[in-house]
Amino acid sequence: MLQTRLLPPADNAHTYPLLIKSLLLSGSRYEKTREIVYRDKLRYSYASFTERVARLANVLSEAGVRAGDTVAVMDWDSHRYLECMFAIPMLGAVLHTINIRLSPEQILYTMNHAEDRFVLVNSDFVPLYNGIQQQLETVQKTLLLTDGQEKTANLPNLVGEYESLLAAASPHYDFADFDENSVATTFYTTGTTGNPKGVYFSHRQLVLHTLAMAATLSSLDSIRLLGSDDVYMPITPMFHVHAWGVPYVATLLGIKQVYPGRYEPDMLCRLIREERVSFSHCVPTILQMLLSAPGAQGYNFGGLKMIIGGSALNRALYEAALAKGIQLTAAYGMSETCPLISCAYLNEELRAGSEGERITYRIKAGIPVPLVEAAIMDADGRRQPHDGESQGELVLRAPWLTQSYFREAEEGEELWAHGWLHTGDVATIDGMGFIEIRDRIKDVIKTGGEWISSLELEDLISRHPAVREVAVVGVADPQWGERPFALLVLHDGQALDAKGLKEHLKPFVEQGNINKWAIPSQVALVTEIPKTSVGKLDKKRIRVEIAQWQEAGSAFLSTL
Ligand code: AMP
Repeated sequence: MLQTRLLPPADNAHTYPLLIKSLLLSGSRYEKTREIVYRDKLRYSYASFTERVARLANVLSEAGVRAGDTVAVMDWDSHRYLECMFAIPMLGAVLHTINIRLSPEQILYTMNHAEDRFVLVNSDFVPLYNGIQQQLETVQKTLLLTDGQEKTANLPNLVGEYESLLAAASPHYDFADFDENSVATTFYTTGTTGNPKGVYFSHRQLVLHTLAMAATLSSLDSIRLLGSDDVYMPITPMFHVHAWGVPYVATLLGIKQVYPGRYEPDMLCRLIREERVSFSHCVPTILQMLLSAPGAQGYNFGGLKMIIGGSALNRALYEAALAKGIQLTAAYGMSETCPLISCAYLNEELRAGSEGERITYRIKAGIPVPLVEAAIMDADGRRQPHDGESQGELVLRAPWLTQSYFREAEEGEELWAHGWLHTGDVATIDGMGFIEIRDRIKDVIKTGGEWISSLELEDLISRHPAVREVAVVGVADPQWGERPFALLVLHDGQALDAKGLKEHLKPFVEQGNINKWAIPSQVALVTEIPKTSVGKLDKKRIRVEIAQWQEAGSAFLSTL
């Protein structure tokens, strides 16, 4: 450590801790009458929002919630969830956002592992909760969330129903200051192997993440996705990295917020139209679903700006969205990183290029946002050059990365080997600082001594006009080690087989984009591709299914 001149002690000065409560106060200062909207069911002003957070804090305190307790939420994306994102950490308690799409066994595991004491349960999940409640080891009380009229439910140790409790509570709460390094939120990764792992974020981390995200989305001219007059609606579940942290940014800026409840494509389209939603974000597969929804046919979303992250954004989806009036910008992050790491920023030089070149950069993972450092490392911890060619594991430093995995110190040490957070992604960084994710380390296809990026192949295959969705994985091959295998969902009435796909990919081989070993020798036409709990391609399940089809000699497989 350098010997610097430290701040002299000042007994009277207020040392301002970075706490989530300061994000709430700023939004309602700007816009008292602006609305928070829940489906077609409820709307209220920022002034009421602030009061409702205080009411919820009173309800939880009276129910016995104390600083340091973990309070879990099982809900769809709602105004209630937004209120919990503030009230629970503002009490000094820890918000556990439960991934309601995990299996009941995994949900049980995460709730016991996180040591949840209080659980807020949406009436839709009461049967799920009751199925596991006898094995819950730490839960003391429950609270009912509902869109209906019911004031009670068959839940053990039920304190009451959310709206009735809020209505009866005081709209004032004097939120105390405390250490900014207190844990504010926790949730579990959707890791494909072993048990889910708990990541956690402090008030300081969430405040800094919010400020950096606001600066990125609101001030960088080639991005400019979010201004205070925009209307925001998440299409990323709030349990998945706090809807990528955007509700905190929207609240900071006093932006109108719309929460869609359970995702129903037609309801999403209707809310976008009727509430004039102008900014959203989701993973590519959810956007695909939205664009194919009956409610989206013949409708132009003109003016809608979206961040696409969580998986690679391919050119075909970028262009399909643009044709419907949606401007996409790619970003990169992960559960461990809060999540924002990078966003596709086009400098003056790139903006002056052709439309084709601009798209090439708009769909890459982007340039690290303020306060983030990114590097490429080989397996021995040696830094690789940022020349756009040298590949290695993407490693990161930033003020808002999870410091370990909750009660998994060993795995946490691995995550932070050599003092950098290891992403498990193979990437390149070019001279401009652009990160390009080549693949998950586990998903790279190794064939005949060559390494092939499944993401690159998916991008090229998605450009075939018959292809609606594609996933590529490596399958074991006695001669080549592995061979690429493509799963395709085609547009209605279209046909494509392994030979047709080869014809489509040939020009890319001739131009040197891919080598000839990248051409899949087997193709399966399916009606649906397996997805994870957050809507990403589930490559682990895809591999299992392919093995089963191959054993059964399925008829929908096409071979070169
Ligand atoms: P999760 O922790 O479930 O949010 O998943 C994080 C992973 O999603 C990363 O490690 C990447 O493999 C992938 N990912 C996120 N953003 C992108 C992106 N823009 N391009 C490619 N892969 C991405």
